[in-house]
Amino acid sequence: MPTFRAPRGTRDLLPDEAARFNRFARVARDLAERYGYRPIETPLFEQAAVFERGLGEVTDVVEKELFRIAPRTEDSEAWALRPEPTAGIVRAYVQHGMHTWPQPVRLSMMGPMFRYDRPQAGRYRQFWQFDVEAIGDPGPAIDAEIVELGLRFYAEVGVRGAEVLVNSIGDPVCRPAYLGVLTSYYRRRAIDLPPTDRDRLERNVLRLLDSKDPAMAAINAAAPRITDHLCDACAAHLAGLRAHLDALGVPYRMAPGLVRGLDYYTRTAFEFYVAGREGQQQAIGGGGRYDGLVELLGGRPTPGIGFGVGLDRVALVLDEQANVAGARADAVDSGDLGTLDVVVVSADPDDTVGRLRVATEIRAAGLHARADLGRRKLGRQLEAASRDGAHFAVILGDELATGHVQIRDLEAGTQRAVATSDLARELARAVKAHRHG
Ligand code: AMP
Repeated sequence: MPTFRAPRGTRDLLPDEAARFNRFARVARDLAERYGYRPIETPLFEQAAVFERGLGEVTDVVEKELFRIAPRTEDSEAWALRPEPTAGIVRAYVQHGMHTWPQPVRLSMMGPMFRYDRPQAGRYRQFWQFDVEAIGDPGPAIDAEIVELGLRFYAEVGVRGAEVLVNSIGDPVCRPAYLGVLTSYYRRRAIDLPPTDRDRLERNVLRLLDSKDPAMAAINAAAPRITDHLCDACAAHLAGLRAHLDALGVPYRMAPGLVRGLDYYTRTAFEFYVAGREGQQQAIGGGGRYDGLVELLGGRPTPGIGFGVGLDRVALVLDEQANVAGARADAVDSGDLGTLDVVVVSADPDDTVGRLRVATEIRAAGLHARADLGRRKLGRQLEAASRDGAHFAVILGDELATGHVQIRDLEAGTQRAVATSDLARELARAVKAHRHG
């Protein structure tokens, strides 16, 4: 057993996995740019009240999972690591007066989130999300834009069969009456409810609908549906969203039990799944509209909508799909594989200065190069270069005196001399021919 290990519920992203996350980041950045969502970064921690007030006190995330940072002194603020991005982004929207910017403000972010939950497969204490938010547009057209953008992300990173489940959870006009109906439904079955759910019944009845307890499955399946209790405005909003999704050719399924885990949602709620993989802990993303959140966090009433994609779960799905297909589903591009074009070696084992200097020049010309910095014989240096998958070796030998080095094609086993002044240009040409040939 090693002396130190990564904390429970966290994991190291080793180079293959970290390269994959880099690729997610590239796809995310590119999509966000194409759709006009501008980057934002907020702190990894906030005043705990941002989450308590924003997400709701009676939510799993706040009650059980908030990763609180112990204050150092009695009077210091209570902080918490961010469990999700929306509350922090909305806090920033209010703080920086973004309501004076052209609306809606379209924002996008990728980074780690923290939830002090019991770790299990697909559920970590530190996990990554790609997130987009559009603040200042009541929808429903933008709701459809956001849902479609989410699905496109999955398609572009190589997930097959991603689909979206959609629901409306009403608004302050119609939800109270529905909650009344729902409460009496559960009260009549109170005796069958697991203790946590019985406890929540009087505090936050909507939570029961997404209870993780298997005992709740049958009770929930027969529960009154909010879509049967929407006010006219909410019903029209849902119809508008569906019309826009249909017009875009976005397939979706209505999911009457989908309520999302946080209090701030109004109207549109959605979750992304891979077809046939729809259990607990299986959502690969989720989001919804939060028309009351800006006001809750101290701004003027402003509508908003967004989603978070769970990148760790996307990675798990890609691994699964690759196993089924017998190949790596997410084709990595050359940068991800750590492509090595050139290794600089030399006849004089001690000439680390010469090797490092030449490698630096080659890298400055834009190629992927490393110098062999061990002090070993030329033969050993060349073996290591081949083993690392380099295409070419640059060999510094006696011809250095006349301003020449050798370029060796490690696969073909051929080599030729070039003037050091031409080296970068010659190599660039050779590498290009090799990459495309
Ligand atoms: P949520 O807002 O809780 O629905 O989170 C959005 C997405 O983030 C989920 O659909 C998951 O894909 C992912 N996610 C949430 N919590 C975790 C976690 N503890 N570990 C890994 N991924 C998570």
